[in-house]
Amino acid sequence: MRIELDTAILRDSVRDIADFPKGGVVFKDITPLLADPMAFSSAVDAIVVSYGRGTIDKVVGIEARGFIVAAPVAYHFGAGFVPLRKAGKLPFDTLSETYELEYGTETLELHADAFAPDDRVLIVDDVLATGGTAKAACNLVEQAGGTVAGLAFVIELGFLEGARRLEGYDFVSLLKY
Ligand code: AMP
Repeated sequence: MRIELDTAILRDSVRDIADFPKGGVVFKDITPLLADPMAFSSAVDAIVVSYGRGTIDKVVGIEARGFIVAAPVAYHFGAGFVPLRKAGKLPFDTLSETYELEYGTETLELHADAFAPDDRVLIVDDVLATGGTAKAACNLVEQAGGTVAGLAFVIELGFLEGARRLEGYDFVSLLKY
């Protein structure tokens, strides 16, 4: 089920920061959204309702802003939370994937034992830009034995065409630019 979300409250609480973290990038700052109780709960609720309780076993949050949204989503699903972290942060055996970012390269890691067989996994992040991060997350979840049930983003930068990297996957984005 997809709900019609009143996106104005979300849109009004996202701040554009020009030339951060480097020249030419317009950074979508969600800290005002997180600080606004109505906007934050609306974003979390909209993701939960988009998939529905009972459909997700584990929610993967992508470091670092993805954690903030993914954890309350997991709680509402009654699902577990799994962190996808930058290289060198996770203490146990890891799987890793290196990919291109809108600004630079990145390596993400996941604990090798993160999932039970057939776990239905929702991947959550703040922004879908070029889709490299999200695709790397899908690859890692599948390598670790999970099934990607879907992905959810607060913001999709449509002009960067990240959706093309997610062909074959179900995903929801609350705000599109
Ligand atoms: P990408 O792999 O290009 O889809 O980039 C997505 C990741 O980079 C997400 O984890 C975002 O947090 C971050 N990101 C990329 N572009 C932006 C942006 N313009 N504003 C805020 N975060 C961004």
